[in-house]
Amino acid sequence: MTGSSLPCILTCRPTWEGGEYDGPEDGRLALLAAACEAQAAYIDVEWVAYEREPAWRDLAERHAPQTGLILSSHDFERRPADLFRRVEKMVAADACRVIKLAWMARSLRDNLQAMELIGAQHKPTIALCMGEAGQPSRVLARKFGALLTFAGLDDETVTAPGQVGVATLKQRYRWDAQRPGTAVYGVIGWPVTHSMSPAIHNAGFEVVGHDGVHLPMPIPPEYEHFKATVGAWLDSGPLNFRGASVTLPHKENLIRFVDEVGGAVEPLARTIGAANTLTVRDDGSPYASNTDYAGALDALCGTMGIERKGLESRRVAVIGAGGAARAIVAGLAHDGARVTIYNRTAERAQRLADRFDADIAVGPLTELPASGCGVYINCTPIGMHPEVNQTPMPELPAALGEGAVVFDTIYNPAETRLLQDAKAAGATTLGGGAMFVGQAAAQFELWTGKPAPTATFEGVLRERLG
Ligand code: NAP
Repeated sequence: MTGSSLPCILTCRPTWEGGEYDGPEDGRLALLAAACEAQAAYIDVEWVAYEREPAWRDLAERHAPQTGLILSSHDFERRPADLFRRVEKMVAADACRVIKLAWMARSLRDNLQAMELIGAQHKPTIALCMGEAGQPSRVLARKFGALLTFAGLDDETVTAPGQVGVATLKQRYRWDAQRPGTAVYGVIGWPVTHSMSPAIHNAGFEVVGHDGVHLPMPIPPEYEHFKATVGAWLDSGPLNFRGASVTLPHKENLIRFVDEVGGAVEPLARTIGAANTLTVRDDGSPYASNTDYAGALDALCGTMGIERKGLESRRVAVIGAGGAARAIVAGLAHDGARVTIYNRTAERAQRLADRFDADIAVGPLTELPASGCGVYINCTPIGMHPEVNQTPMPELPAALGEGAVVFDTIYNPAETRLLQDAKAAGATTLGGGAMFVGQAAAQFELWTGKPAPTATFEGVLRERLG
């Protein structure tokens, strides 16, 4: 440690506190005494050991102020019922220079408690929640004012659940740019670990210099979880939660929540019955909107070289009748296109058509080749990785060729079997990457008020998909 160019913290965590040391207490005492002799900046000792064994206090007092004592408390199962009483005792311990608390998060709300604990103490504090739901306390530790956070050398060599690697912490979560006032955004879903939204939005914030961090927000599917968590995050002033990308299964919950708390809902999102974007306005009120349809239609019109109003009277075949189709059909109907929905389940297609005050036809998938449409949009997962040899149109329409446009909303792979077939037949093709980038760009502009750096978004998407 004397030879180290950086301050060192030494610990020897016993098995009864979640570590790997199962030897006698004397052995640990000797090891940490040697660390003090070698001028470690800190030793980390469990609060339970400190209370039980006076030798720890003697050691800490003997070596202060050269080596500081971090008193720590870990619970890998739950939030300790006596958390606040523990904190009080740790603060009162004279030899303690830093308080460290780590517990398994019950939900995203525990991160707020970690933030409050850090802000409320007179001594430097580290408060970290473990598990996927606790990750905000780790990646936002700098914003929260914690003395430090812990990170692995890389994402694979982490030492506690929810930890990330140094490069992810610094680059993805913008560690060096964080300040107490930094705005927080997230992607709400279940599951949400593999979402590309944090990588895309954080890269964008970096490019335009927006003071924000975007992170995964796992919330279990039930509405009560959504309401309690989003409500608590919105209510926290210091957190400065300013918006979220909302994905499955919460797109309908977002509209219900914003209605219940008296916020505003974009009229087309209400017609679609689903919203994918939460924006917190400057007066604190929430606004729910849908950028999926805008992302899809802007990408489509860009490829066709027309304005959105140029869709009027165009004949468009939409394949599928799920969530993505609902948003796209709403946008097409709004812009006056003549839509036919082709779906495996006829009743679902009819239900979707009936949602809109427009003349929308429905048909079985077998009728697709004879549809005579000029634009085809695949809104099913057929052909998505790993089933890359599948296609929703095994038989292409005879008239498909120059002038026809085939849009596959799938973005992995970038060029699906459907697009390969359509391109070979002479049609203009478009993959789902443009829709994904388009919906993210519209969210970004709502949150930052600045044009989205779409080339950066495309680069991140390419990098993530390999
Ligand atoms: P969803 O709500 O589950 O709907 C899936 C639709 O696909 C349903 O209409 C379903 O038909 C149909 N379908 C599924 N498997 C089928 C099969 N084997 N044969 C025939 N029809 C089948 O899903 P979603 O949220 O709409 O998403 C659909 C796809 O859109 C996703 O897989 C994704 O690739 C794409 N997407 C892309 C973006 C983007 O940003 N690029 C965004 C959202 C979605 P039934 O009604 O008969 O079940």
